[in-house]
Amino acid sequence: MEGFEPRSRDLNKGIFTIFPGLCKGCGLCIEKCPKQSLHWSEVLGVYGTPTVETNEDCILCGICAMVCPDTAIAITQKPRDGGEKNTEKKEKPLKH
Ligand code: SF4
Ligand code: SF4
Repeated sequence: MEGFEPRSRDLNKGIFTIFPGLCKGCGLCIEKCPKQSLHWSEVLGVYGTPTVETNEDCILCGICAMVCPDTAIAITQKPRDGGEKNTEKKEKPLKH
């Protein structure tokens, strides 16, 4: 469906994704976010209501994803020590 592409924000330790096609703009996630990092987005959801987006203060706690009645938010944690999944390693060559 056009206009309902998932929108992701790549944060340091993981990724916040909102699915506008599922969000009904109830605001519960904004209310429950412990960091007040969620705010209304210009992108409209399935009922023509604003969806949400997060900012750099997001700690990827997952509370928003848990409280959303429509599973419109997904939080993906990146593995801590390298490991199995795509970790973006930014290794700088050492100069002597
Ligand atoms: S993951 Fe936690 S800190 Fe980040 S937007 Fe959701 S509730 Fe807020
Ligand atoms: S993401 Fe979920 S909890 Fe947040 S406004 Fe949309 S439907 Fe409500």
